[in-house]
Amino acid sequence: MVKIKNEGILLVISSPSGTGKTTICKKLLEYDKNIHLAVSVTTRKKRKNEVEGIDYYFRTKKDFLNLKSQDAFIENAFVFDNYYGTLKSEVLEQLKNGIDVLIDIDWQGTRQITQAMKGNLTKIFLLPPSINELKKRLSKRNSDSMKEINFRMSRALKEIKHFDEYDYVLVNNNLDNTFQQIVKILETEKLKLSKQPYLFDFVEKLSLT
Ligand code: 5GP
Repeated sequence: MVKIKNEGILLVISSPSGTGKTTICKKLLEYDKNIHLAVSVTTRKKRKNEVEGIDYYFRTKKDFLNLKSQDAFIENAFVFDNYYGTLKSEVLEQLKNGIDVLIDIDWQGTRQITQAMKGNLTKIFLLPPSINELKKRLSKRNSDSMKEINFRMSRALKEIKHFDEYDYVLVNNNLDNTFQQIVKILETEKLKLSKQPYLFDFVEKLSLT
């Protein structure tokens, strides 16, 4: 019998900005303390409410490129005029120790990480209920300038085009419903044989009796 390792689940969530992804990720982290949020490195400016080391590691372009040349990233991409990257140190060790890891990245990063993990991950894409709703949500934020909002709207449409590269696609009509759907996905993923290595011993004992 081939034994499998007790590795955590790698959950990737993508969506255009303003689809409620950040709120849902926070809710998920509160709900399940076994999930580690992989904090990304970015060269983007820190927003008012953001905290270094919690929301992002805010770095200069020079520092980012240094990390890249040291092969520190499992994926990295240029998104909205800034560099973003997921550190290997935020993902690999945790998975190996059976800790589930959540990453909030764009479609470019998702493609790279799919290759790096040889498909051993769960990918969720969130769609806004409508473009008007997305516009409303982006304008309400106040944390970005009008120019930035318009730019993000055009990028949102480009991000949405990649929805079919994901395993699960949810329309975020209602935050609580979407959150419940993600909890269900996580619970289902945990039932995969590859995530229940103890079943091999269990079945061995069953066959002895
Ligand atoms: P924001 O600047 O609004 O926090 O994020 C902008 C976009 O960058 C979002 O779509 C977010 O998912 C994506 N993003 C954040 N961190 C990373 C990362 O480490 N890698 C990649 N590829 N995208 C990221």
